[in-house]
Amino acid sequence: MERKRIRKKLVKLLEVSPPLKEILLSEDTLESKRNRIRTFLADMLVVTFDDDPTIPPLEWVLTRDAIGVFRTILSSRSERLAGFSFLGYLNDLLHKPHYRDVPRPEAGFFAEVEHLLKGIMGKAGTYSATPPVFSKYEGVKAARLRSADLSRMARTAREFMDRYACGLSEEVIRERSQNKQRILEHFGATEYEWEDWEWHTKHIIRNADTLKDLVDLSGEEYEAVKRARAYRIPFGITPYYLSLLDRSSGGPRDYAVRAQVLPPLRYVEEMRALKSCNERSMDFMLERNTSPIEGVTRRYPMIVILKPVLTCPQICVYCQRNWEIEDVYSDTAAVSGEKLDRALEWIAATPEILEVLITGGDPLLLSDEKLRYILSRLATMPHVERIRIGTRTPVTLPQRITDTLVRDINRFHNPGKREILIVTHFEHPYEITPQSMEAVQKFRRYGMEVYNQLVYTFYNSRKFEAAFLREKLRLIGVTPYYTFNTKGKEETDDYRVPIARLLQEQKEEARLLPGTLRTDEIVFNVPGLGKNYLRAVQHHDVISVLPDGRRVYEFHPWEKQLFLVDTYVYTDVSIHDYLQKLKKAGEDTHAYRTIWYYY
Ligand code: SF4
Repeated sequence: MERKRIRKKLVKLLEVSPPLKEILLSEDTLESKRNRIRTFLADMLVVTFDDDPTIPPLEWVLTRDAIGVFRTILSSRSERLAGFSFLGYLNDLLHKPHYRDVPRPEAGFFAEVEHLLKGIMGKAGTYSATPPVFSKYEGVKAARLRSADLSRMARTAREFMDRYACGLSEEVIRERSQNKQRILEHFGATEYEWEDWEWHTKHIIRNADTLKDLVDLSGEEYEAVKRARAYRIPFGITPYYLSLLDRSSGGPRDYAVRAQVLPPLRYVEEMRALKSCNERSMDFMLERNTSPIEGVTRRYPMIVILKPVLTCPQICVYCQRNWEIEDVYSDTAAVSGEKLDRALEWIAATPEILEVLITGGDPLLLSDEKLRYILSRLATMPHVERIRIGTRTPVTLPQRITDTLVRDINRFHNPGKREILIVTHFEHPYEITPQSMEAVQKFRRYGMEVYNQLVYTFYNSRKFEAAFLREKLRLIGVTPYYTFNTKGKEETDDYRVPIARLLQEQKEEARLLPGTLRTDEIVFNVPGLGKNYLRAVQHHDVISVLPDGRRVYEFHPWEKQLFLVDTYVYTDVSIHDYLQKLKKAGEDTHAYRTIWYYY
């Protein structure tokens, strides 16, 4: 019965393309079908480029892309790399008398097949059949009609953005001041102590019961924190960051802030399993293969990462270094003086290094003296022209950005000779506060640039949510720099977003903003190799779709025209599942309907 239902559903989907349906339902061998489909796709491509009047304007672009994807998926090379034959699977579903050894297709698989076929046949329905009215006119009349269209687009964008809370709104500032008072009362502390970053590091909230006294927690939030502590999974929240959480749990404003620090139960259990088998397997980025010396990571010719400390004031749940981050603000997290010196000597002896990214962990957790020491050692190396400091303290602990610290760092910022710049990590406009703005402005007043690296997770991926963040970031003096795809780590599946959504966000949301706001590059960090620029379609391919609807990608290394380096095969999260999650969170998924046509 189930087989009949599945087969019937597939046959119905195939009706969008009668030639494909005929081929797939024929009794030909699999190889003959593969060849016939290839010929059919080649013919379709010719028709597409022949300016077929039956295909609406611009739909041909989608058709061309969908044909290219299907052709790649059909190749035996893709099948070998993906370890799965999409065509063979379709064939099994249509022809096998039983499904004993055949995995059941999930809703995401049917959805991918449907949209791929529609794309190939020029029936995606993305574009309106009628061209906009302004195109029929010229001069001022055309300009006014076009201007009205553009205003409508801007208003739609603003309506979406208005749904998200920003920490600079007066109402939020008022409420957070009450949160602060509640936290101060709990610890019996003063306003003066609140401004002292070391008071915060001494009062990091590390357990579920203290947390529960200060903010409401759902049953799952409480249980997850409790278990995280029991399993020795790093957890902690600075009193400052806690004041950014709304008192009640499950509200519409602070979901992204809570998701940053409150681990989901599934994450906690996965981490426990991973930790107990082999910690190394959590090193998704394969840093163990790119560290020429302890404390240094090198993936590019002219830049290295220096990691003098392996902890942060609090841990982002999705942190790519969760395999080596020690407990929150732990005493033992600073790399020993000897190891640090050896790492610095290695950089000194490597004259090709133009730029050093000091990160970790969060290097601004180091004392002023230690930081001064590292910067002064780097400043003696004539080849090091730029020092980047990667820190999330403007967001998690803005009190750390003291005048003394900024003056100390600025001593090494020497225009024309050496540049110091700050790379921070705001995830949501709700994290932007007058205090974080002041922290950023302190660097800016001394002429140091501040950039932002956004990790694009489920919790900041709604329509125009990242666009709104970029708008607010520029206002406080931060330049959007990178938007990262979340890493393909099973323990953080709840945070992952399909690659198609990053591409859609750039094209349909970020693109509507002025160029000064959309300065970031969307990237996939290829393990062991480095950044792949997602918007360049020639640097990645969809090579398969699995029975559960997940796309398999092949990523090309950044140096592909320079060096013979292998490609990297990656399985994404299912678009269908992502849309279902959005729906559950109250989103109208119709607004995301074109996502299927981004590859
Ligand atoms: S700030 Fe960076 S290093 Fe620290 S926990 Fe977050 S992602 Fe990891």
